[in-house]
Amino acid sequence: MSFELKYTPNICPYCGCGCGLNIVTLNGKIKGVEGWKRHPVNEGKLCPKGNFSYQFVQSKDRLKHPLIKKNGKFIEISWDKAVDIIVSKLNEYRKENPNSIAFLASARCTNEENYILQKFARVAIGTNNIDHCARLCHAPSVAGLAQTFGSGAMTNSILDIEEAESIFIIGSNTAEQHPIIWRRVLKAKNKGAKLIVADPRKTPTASLADIHLPIKPGSNIALINAMMNVIIEEGLEDTDFIKKRTKGFEKLKEVIEKYKPEKVEKIVGVPAKKIREAAITYAKADRATILYAMGITQHTTGTHNVISTANLAMLTGNIGKKGTGVNPLRGQNNVQGACDMGALPQFYPGYQKVTDKNATEKMQKIWKCDDLSSEPGLTVVEMMDAAIDGKVKCMYIMGENPVLSDPDIKHVKKALKNLEFLIVQDIFLTETAEFADIVLPTTAWGEKNGTYTSTERRVQCIRKAADGPGEAKDDWRIICEIAKRMNVNGFEFNSTKEIFNEIRKVTPQYAGMNFKRLQKPGGLQWPCPDESHPGTPILHTEKFATPDGLGKFIPVEHEEPAELPDDRYPFILTTGRILFHYHTGTMTRRSETLDNEVSTGFVEINDKDASKLGIKDGEIVKVMTRRGEIKIPAKVTSKVREGVLFIPFHFVECAANMLTSTNYDPISKIPEFKVSAANIEKL
Ligand code: SF4
Repeated sequence: MSFELKYTPNICPYCGCGCGLNIVTLNGKIKGVEGWKRHPVNEGKLCPKGNFSYQFVQSKDRLKHPLIKKNGKFIEISWDKAVDIIVSKLNEYRKENPNSIAFLASARCTNEENYILQKFARVAIGTNNIDHCARLCHAPSVAGLAQTFGSGAMTNSILDIEEAESIFIIGSNTAEQHPIIWRRVLKAKNKGAKLIVADPRKTPTASLADIHLPIKPGSNIALINAMMNVIIEEGLEDTDFIKKRTKGFEKLKEVIEKYKPEKVEKIVGVPAKKIREAAITYAKADRATILYAMGITQHTTGTHNVISTANLAMLTGNIGKKGTGVNPLRGQNNVQGACDMGALPQFYPGYQKVTDKNATEKMQKIWKCDDLSSEPGLTVVEMMDAAIDGKVKCMYIMGENPVLSDPDIKHVKKALKNLEFLIVQDIFLTETAEFADIVLPTTAWGEKNGTYTSTERRVQCIRKAADGPGEAKDDWRIICEIAKRMNVNGFEFNSTKEIFNEIRKVTPQYAGMNFKRLQKPGGLQWPCPDESHPGTPILHTEKFATPDGLGKFIPVEHEEPAELPDDRYPFILTTGRILFHYHTGTMTRRSETLDNEVSTGFVEINDKDASKLGIKDGEIVKVMTRRGEIKIPAKVTSKVREGVLFIPFHFVECAANMLTSTNYDPISKIPEFKVSAANIEKL
């Protein structure tokens, strides 16, 4: 008997760090993974999720055949028949009104899959109704950083965090959510860097901070404006940088003057002295970096929160060099890529606006069509509202699970029930797929080729190591097949390499990349405008990506969250993630090792609050908001602020998003997951 042991270089399917690993196969079957030692980002190290990333692929729950719902039950159907039905339904709705169809792409799918789905929505159907879960995590980063710096991406690289003398982490539990980035933070700290962490919880990240600011949820702008007030008062601003590289400083200064730490300490919930200490520590460093995640973005002021981080970095000249910058940490492996590929309702690939005539002409020429819509499409939350109103009648969901990821689950379920036709492509029969009329089985990570773009704009190849189960197909092949049967040209691709070559033509940031160049460990970081360009580890070194090359200060004011505590709902509920789980748990909860580590959800409550209510650690309690209620084990701890409750959102049996609200940021349309008025009771 012969044994074929193979190591296939790949990129971790979980968070946005983009760690390299090798998938180990024996006789074509996946047996495990091993850290990729020559990979520049993780140097062979993996966190627990990465180490057990192969397990979900082997789950017995994998979908193997197309399914159709008959009398409320799923039965198997042939691919041929399934595609026939889908083609006929899409043609019917398209004829009636292209905007009655909406698409959800996926931050877990490859660049090529996202590119093909957005092209299908725009070219085959004629709608810009395409979005994905970046709307729920980093849409404000795109909106906020594009306004200030001209580009909505992480300015620096994971590697150069080590060069920082001061690291300001706000709204990110980096130690648990981006462990390989955290490794660089610790290396910087070992070299003497000071760590400032603003977070309402004493997370593992905050526990190692030199200065922990346990701020009230929703007070980010008040805090950052107060820090800037101190910096200006102490004369620590970088006048040379402000003069040469920015505009709008005087207007910023006028607003900042009102934010004396002593005036806003009540809003922030942190003593003025500590705010002053944090401001001086950040500003006195020669190189200071800002890392943030959803504690900044998931607010009704999400875009303004992002803008305030950009203001702070520009004020101190901390842009365009190693160990500095404003660095949004992306939660899923390909959030950056799905955005780059135009899986967004207002942008073609490369952030070219659908409302821009020149961009539309360019796309029409390359895509060989003449009727692209210039009307921006619906965002995730708007799609659900439109489904309830009957304006969206058909949805096509690729690899997303809005029933658990979107705010106000009752509302989402009502929307999906109200659809006339729902198509779901996935690797599992998710909570969302349960609502579908047709479910299509797809290959998973490890079973397909393509590229991912990590949080630091790093484009890397993923490679097929094993075959998918049963009749599962690659997402892009399914969509191309449907397009061909609809007699739509432009979907005659035979490989992901061919798709990538088209991506290069339409996405200026990717123009100089090709599959040959991307084979090397670490791939390339965009922008990479031509084939001799080495890629760009640091943005804005000489000038910003704005039309005039200047960074723009935009003054922003503190605003209260949409829902504040009151007598009936006296607590602030905030949601988030934990080390062992990922997103809605579809993958990590089907990984035996990870699920054994933390097998259900919990609500963190401050020990003083728990004592007042007589709540004991581990006891099942009821948590309620205006949307609904859940029963969940209590975790009594001093690590969360008094008056604040924290629930991770991975667990269907005690789903945090039963409780969250659909209030959203008017600019980026991100819902306010981080603040809901709530109550908690003993059962
Ligand atoms: Fe995977 Fe992120 Fe862990 Fe790296 S840090 S191994 S990318 S989950």
